[in-house]
Amino acid sequence: MSYSEKSQQENQPFPFFTTSIRSFVQLDRSNEIPLYQQICQGLREAILAGELKEGTRLPTERALAQELGINRTTVMNAYHELASQGLIEGHIGRGTLVKRNHLASYEDEPFEQDTPSWLLGLSSGEELALGADARVLSELASLGERKEIISFAAGTPAQDLLPVDILRTVMHEGLIPGRQNALSYCPVEGLQSLRRAIAERMRKRGIAVNVQQLLILSGSTQGIGLIARLLLSPGDEVVVEIPTYVGAIQTFRALGANIIGVPIDSEGIRVDLLEAILARRSPRFIYTLPTFQNPTGVIISPERRRRLLLLSKRYQIPILEDDPYSELYFEGEEVPPLKAMDTRGNVLYLGTYSKILAPGIRVAWLAAPEPIIERLSLHKQIFDLNTNPLGQWAVSEILRRDLLDEHLLMLRQRYHHKRDVMLKAIDKHWPTGMRINHPMGGFHLWCRLPGELRGRALLREAVQERIAFVIGEPFHVDGGGQRHIRLSFAYPEEQQIEEGIRRMGDVMRRMLG
Ligand code: PMP
Repeated sequence: MSYSEKSQQENQPFPFFTTSIRSFVQLDRSNEIPLYQQICQGLREAILAGELKEGTRLPTERALAQELGINRTTVMNAYHELASQGLIEGHIGRGTLVKRNHLASYEDEPFEQDTPSWLLGLSSGEELALGADARVLSELASLGERKEIISFAAGTPAQDLLPVDILRTVMHEGLIPGRQNALSYCPVEGLQSLRRAIAERMRKRGIAVNVQQLLILSGSTQGIGLIARLLLSPGDEVVVEIPTYVGAIQTFRALGANIIGVPIDSEGIRVDLLEAILARRSPRFIYTLPTFQNPTGVIISPERRRRLLLLSKRYQIPILEDDPYSELYFEGEEVPPLKAMDTRGNVLYLGTYSKILAPGIRVAWLAAPEPIIERLSLHKQIFDLNTNPLGQWAVSEILRRDLLDEHLLMLRQRYHHKRDVMLKAIDKHWPTGMRINHPMGGFHLWCRLPGELRGRALLREAVQERIAFVIGEPFHVDGGGQRHIRLSFAYPEEQQIEEGIRRMGDVMRRMLG
C-alpha cells in the first residue's frame, strides 16, 4: 500500500508523505556511506528544498524499513539524526512530523515592502547630519554617466585626458616584476616606494618632508575625514572659507562640528576677519584651499599667506591645506603650496592624484608632522588597512619612470584651452551683467548671475535643456550663494562647452525676459 492510499484512508489532520519514499531516498548498498546516512541525506535534501513541507507526517520506522527492505534500527538512526538537526520531530500519537523549515520557507514568505525601522532611523539621521545638500556630491558624480546631459557639474578630469597610455605602459612593462608590491597587502601608511617618490617630489616643490611625515590615502576625501575625526569632537569649532568645497562642509557637519565661515575675496581668505574670530574663539583648525580654490578659482596672495601662517602660529591653530589643483596652472610658474612657507609644522597638507592622473586611481597623500601621521595611521587602519595597493604601485611607477611631468604639461594646455573656450562662449552667448572669475588654473568658473536671477531657478530650466551645473548654496555655510553657480570646464569636450553655454544663454535670456 502506498503512503498516499494510507493517508486517504486514515483522514488525519496532518499531510502524509504522499509520494513513494523512493523518490527521495535511493539506497546504494555498494556505497561506503552507511545506509542510515543515505536515508538521512535524502530526506534532509527533500525537506530543505521544500518538497517535504512542514507538518508532513513521515512513515513509521517499521513501514519505512519494510518499504526500503532494511533493518528498522537503520531507519531509527536516520530519524534520530534528522531530529538532532532540527528537521523532524516525534509526537506521541501523531508520529514523526517534518518541522518548520526556515531555509525553505524563505521562498514562501512575501517580500516585506516596509523598510525595517532600524534602517529608517539610520538613513534619516545621516541626512539630517549632512544637511539639505547631503546627496549633492554623489548626484554630481552620476551626472557624468548620463550621455544625453552636458555636464558642467562634476569636477572630474576629461575622459580623453585620463592617463590610459601611461597606465598601459606601466602595467605592461612593470606589473610582472612589480607584482609583489602591486597585488599584495601593503603597510597602512602606504607603499614605501610611493612615499619616497612623493617626498622627493614635494622637496622639489619647496616642502621639506621625509617619508615618515607622509601618509598615503584613498583620496584626499579620506584625509579630510581622518583629520576631522582626529581633531574634532561634536560641538568643536572649525573655520572654513565662504564659499568652500562641499565635501569638507559635509564631513565637518557629519561630525557635529560648528562651522565658522570666513569670506574670501580676490586675494583669498579675509585674514582680517579671521583674526577677529581667532581672538574670541578657539576653532580646532582652519580648512583652506589656497590655490585655485574650489569653487572660486582664487589664489591666496603671498601677503595673506604670510598672515595666515602668522595667525596659525600666534593662536596655535593648525591649518589643513587642501591642494588638488595647484599643479594645474595655465600660465607662468607654479604657485608653491602654503606648506612650503610653513617652518613650524602647523600646516597639514593634502595632495591628490585625482585631478592630475585619475580619480579612479584613489591615491592621495597627507604631509604632516610625524606624530600626526602616527596617530592618523592608527585611526585609518580601522577603516582602511591597505589603501588600494595597485593604484599606489601604479602611481609610484609613473613617478619612478618620470612620466607625470609630461602628462601635466599636456593637461595644463588642454584645460587652459577649455577654460578659454568656455569664457569665449560666455562672452558670445550670455546676457551682460554676469560677474565671472578668470581662473589661472584648476577646473572651475565661478559666476554671479545677472539681475534677480537665482541659481536654483536657472538650474531647473537648464536641466530641461539637458545642461547641468552646481548651484552656489551648497558651497556656503552662511546660507548665501543663491546668485552664484559653478561651472566646470574640465570634463566636457570643447564643442559640448560651446553648445552647453549657448543653450544656457538662451535659457537666461528667456528668464530675464
Ligand atoms: N578637495 C577638493 C577641493 C576637491 O575639489 C576634491 C574633489 N572634487 C576633493 C578634495 C576630493 O578629491 P579626492 O578624489 O582626492 O578624494
